[in-house]
Amino acid sequence: MTYGTDYKPIPAISATSGQGLEILPDLYSYNVRIVNICLVGHRYADNFVLVDAGMPGSADEIIAATEERFGANSCPKAIFLTHGHFDHVGSIMELVKHWKVPVYAYPLELPFLTGKQSYPDPDPTVEGGMIAKMSSFFPNEPINLGKHVQPLPSNGTVPEMEGFCWVHTPGHTPGHVSYFRDEDGALIAGDAFVTVKQESLYAVLTQEKEISGPPRYFTPDWKSAWESVKKLEALKPSLAITGHGLPMIGEELSKNLKTLADDFGRIAVPDYGKYVGQHHKH
Ligand SMILES: [Zn+2]
Repeated sequence: MTYGTDYKPIPAISATSGQGLEILPDLYSYNVRIVNICLVGHRYADNFVLVDAGMPGSADEIIAATEERFGANSCPKAIFLTHGHFDHVGSIMELVKHWKVPVYAYPLELPFLTGKQSYPDPDPTVEGGMIAKMSSFFPNEPINLGKHVQPLPSNGTVPEMEGFCWVHTPGHTPGHVSYFRDEDGALIAGDAFVTVKQESLYAVLTQEKEISGPPRYFTPDWKSAWESVKKLEALKPSLAITGHGLPMIGEELSKNLKTLADDFGRIAVPDYGKYVGQHHKH
């Protein structure tokens, strides 16, 4: 296993870094510097899973947060990825080595996880703020998990994560998925949409809540991104844990997600940037 040659720690941190939130008895979200990971399973249960793998250099912190919730030497059954951006796979090699567990991702994401294909360059010129401007330093080369990563089952189920299905939500990346539990409407959205203006350093520092499209500097396909938000809105989720920002629940979520799905061109799509064509605004 290897990280990309441009792999490095990124000096950005939010007000909620290091904080965990129990959203439901079996749904725990933990903020690693500027990105959320999610632990699915009841406290002290021995069958639980991890969704996404945090920032570069945060493996010890993720293991500590996991042991804090599930007990000493606890180990997830598997790691599920929403996508392979550096801030979602930043510590995955160390975690796989430590826990010896399989990693799952959507088939279209596998080239970025097996060393075959780089993500498009981040766009530091995109409309937004300081994080967008910093984004030229963000790693975009593929990591190589080799045989440790495998495709999600094609029938929509999620092994070891009972009750959840995966939903293909491309746009931010080609193989981006969100995880949804029909029974109670719980959604782990990844970066299909987020609840903080991720391009703005101020918003990221304060974690001011605001429904937003996927992080702009890393989103090359705005048309698919809009379709994906419509797809998630149609599921009528009751709560959402997003890759960035605080969880959104109940009416606050349904109202905001409807507004985003209806008005994505104005709210989410940047006014300018190298991956934006005029036609995407309408
Ligand atoms: Zn991302």
